[in-house]
Amino acid sequence: MLEGRIYNFSAGPSILPDPVLLKAQAELLNCNGSGMSVLEMSHRSKVYDEIINSAVENVYKILNVPENYKVLFLPGGATGMFAALAMNLGTKSGAADFIVSGNFANNAYKEAKKYLKDARIAASSEDANYSYIPSQDQLTLNPDADFVHVCWNNTIFGTKFPYIPDTGDVPLVADMSSSIMSEPVDVSKFGVIYAGVQKNLAPAGLALLIIRDDLLTTPMDITPNIWKFGTQVEKNSMLNTPPCFNIYFVKLVTDYLLEIGGLEAMKKINEEKAALLYDYLDSQDFYKTQVRKSDRSMMNVTFRTGSEELDKEFIAGQAAHGFSNLKGHRITGGMRASIYNAMPKEGVEALVAYMKEFAEQHS
Ligand SMILES: *Cc1c(COP(=O)(O)O)cnc(C)c1O
Repeated sequence: MLEGRIYNFSAGPSILPDPVLLKAQAELLNCNGSGMSVLEMSHRSKVYDEIINSAVENVYKILNVPENYKVLFLPGGATGMFAALAMNLGTKSGAADFIVSGNFANNAYKEAKKYLKDARIAASSEDANYSYIPSQDQLTLNPDADFVHVCWNNTIFGTKFPYIPDTGDVPLVADMSSSIMSEPVDVSKFGVIYAGVQKNLAPAGLALLIIRDDLLTTPMDITPNIWKFGTQVEKNSMLNTPPCFNIYFVKLVTDYLLEIGGLEAMKKINEEKAALLYDYLDSQDFYKTQVRKSDRSMMNVTFRTGSEELDKEFIAGQAAHGFSNLKGHRITGGMRASIYNAMPKEGVEALVAYMKEFAEQHS
């Protein structure tokens, strides 16, 4: 990390790679010889066209996106997509199934329900405070549904799908906001993959959406034009002025990902970082983690001491150790370390050292 930077464990908006921030800084006043900042230029300019096209190209390359899928950048973040997906995909039977594995999964269900004729909960792990992912045999799937929605990585609770649900002919739609590009994924198993970009890719406010061609059908009449997927495909994600700077950041971050060797390389680093924390958690009993072992997230690691007082003290000590944002979500309490792509391994090592020191002082 650069001088003066802190190990920022925020769940989102989140840490971005130092080399990317430096590149953005260097180009801030004069982007690609244009004599202006990307913040100031027309989205119809040649320079910007190259930026958005190379961001799209990078997404295809990095995620190995098959040719029969389109890549879109849409305003409104992941939450915007909760509604947009219902309006675009929920037009045949008007039914959809939701696997409720956490807070965002539930938000997706509640938002889509406003627009669908029949939104159902196919399974829920609320009974155990979302500490696990419902298994295939726990799913009650409606074969007539227009889509099945899952939240791939549950940012607040620290779980991740350990398997790809078999939904038969019904398209599987996955919110991958907090795990996008953290490891390779077989895109062909999904009808739609989408993500708010502020966890692993860029500043907040933008959604990345990868959609199979056959799902680009006529949306509901009420659909806002900016969220009509088919129209946005025709307009190269620029029906109106897009969030230009965010898309530019996706380009820079994906350039950087390609430079370091793509998702195989990224996965290896992420596995090492997660193992540092989970191996330590498994080796002791001062800290507890609720999450079922098979369903652990590689990006968001949740733990607690068992005493609210001690949790508070642990969090109060973070700044002195060069950390920030270790406080768990207000729904869960306790602690959460979000160790996204840009968190260096040294940051996680330093955190484990602090955890050990704190445990020794308090047991
Ligand atoms: C952060 C997050 C969201 C919300 O994203 P917004 O861009 O703020 O709407 C949705 N789903 C998941 C899994 C998230 O981590």
